[in-house]
Amino acid sequence: MSTSEPILIIGGGIGGMATALALANSGRAVHLVEQASEFGEVGAGIQVGPNVMKMFDRLGVIEPINDIAFFPENLILKDALDSSEVARMPLDRDFRERFGYPYATIHRADLHSVLVDACAGNDLVKLETGRKIVHVDQNPDGVSVQTESGEELTGSILVGADGIWSGVRSQLIGDGEPRITGHIAYRAVLPMDEVPENLRSNSVVLWGGPDLHLAHYPLRRGELFNMGAIFHSQRYLQGANVYGDPEELHAQFAGVCGEVDTLLGKIEEWRMWVLRDRDPIEHWSDGRITLLGDSAHPTLQYLAQGAGMAIEDAWTLADRLDHTGDVSAALREYEALRVVRTARVTLFSRLYGEIYHAKGVGRAVRAQMLAGWTPAAARESFNWIYSGI
Ligand SMILES: Cc1cc2nc3c(=O)[nH]c(=O)nc-3n(C[C@H](O)[C@H](O)[C@H](O)COP(=O)(O)OP(=O)(O)OC[C@H]3O[C@@H](n4cnc5c(N)ncnc54)[C@H](O)[C@@H]3O)c2cc1C
Repeated sequence: MSTSEPILIIGGGIGGMATALALANSGRAVHLVEQASEFGEVGAGIQVGPNVMKMFDRLGVIEPINDIAFFPENLILKDALDSSEVARMPLDRDFRERFGYPYATIHRADLHSVLVDACAGNDLVKLETGRKIVHVDQNPDGVSVQTESGEELTGSILVGADGIWSGVRSQLIGDGEPRITGHIAYRAVLPMDEVPENLRSNSVVLWGGPDLHLAHYPLRRGELFNMGAIFHSQRYLQGANVYGDPEELHAQFAGVCGEVDTLLGKIEEWRMWVLRDRDPIEHWSDGRITLLGDSAHPTLQYLAQGAGMAIEDAWTLADRLDHTGDVSAALREYEALRVVRTARVTLFSRLYGEIYHAKGVGRAVRAQMLAGWTPAAARESFNWIYSGI
């Protein structure tokens, strides 16, 4: 093993692909291995703040991203019980000027394809599917991994971008399973023309209710409509991508206003996710091995920044390797630059979940707290995220 060997990336999700691209852009050979038989992402939308659009620009993929994105007009918080508007942040020219980039919504599969295509077009990137890594190892000169079928792959550095159930993390940190939050997400995408015209909106709209919310926004240049219904549930099933139970959903959302009820009724088949996160940790690198994205700092989605943090990680990692000769020092620097920012996203996501899901007096506090919110105040409250790195 030697440092002339490629950097091994475990996991071909958004984080792994962004890392492959960032490293190849700075002239490094990369070998990415994914356990699934083909690369892909779930059929759902993703919100992308200006901090992430800045990363797409730096990664050289802003044009294809702009081609498939939708640019919403506002972020709006409404009360799911009485339909009143609680707060609004215009995503207008002032917003773009403040943060340098727009706010976008993107179909996950579209975003992932942009990254896969950019990687596939770069000779320094080797992409492989159908290879599950079961063990990782290192010595002073390099890293090695074993696949489920017993092969050994070697490299100079190992990046565990293997998601919230990361096997690399369990070997490196060994801190058990991610935390069950008791929150469940049902997600669905439908063609825009199936949405009643009076309920279509060019904004990201979040209807917050007691222990629940519904969020929706257009996708893919406005051709699709994405919905995510989140609620607190005792149904702690493991894993993802299983089908949701519409009866449970409608029971949980009993009592919401007519608009929310009508929108929920448009979907017959939901996909379900059990939402988990982890308490932030101070270190996730050891020698030549590091973690990235959800494997390092899985977060709840209430700030819509999990994938964004993975993409920022990717750029930061490549940047540190460019500037620091010693591998293990570079990985420590990368980690140090990312720990507080990603921890803040994790902890504030929990807090925003509480605000969205406020009930009783909490709901009145939310209304009072946000009543006088001006667009400028709204922008400044998100400055720490949207100004980016
Ligand atoms: C309901 C919901 C809504 C969200 N909304 C947003 C949003 O609006 N904006 C946002 O920025 N983020 C959002 N997120 C968060 C975002 O989806 C994640 O943070 C992001 O997808 C993490 O990417 P990743 O590449 O780190 O991990 P993953 O996407 O989990 O990718 C990990 C990859 O590693 C592979 N893998 C795992 N183990 C192995 C192994 N042993 N060998 C080989 N391959 C392996 C997996 O198959 C997978 O392809 C949301 C999340 C949820 C649940």
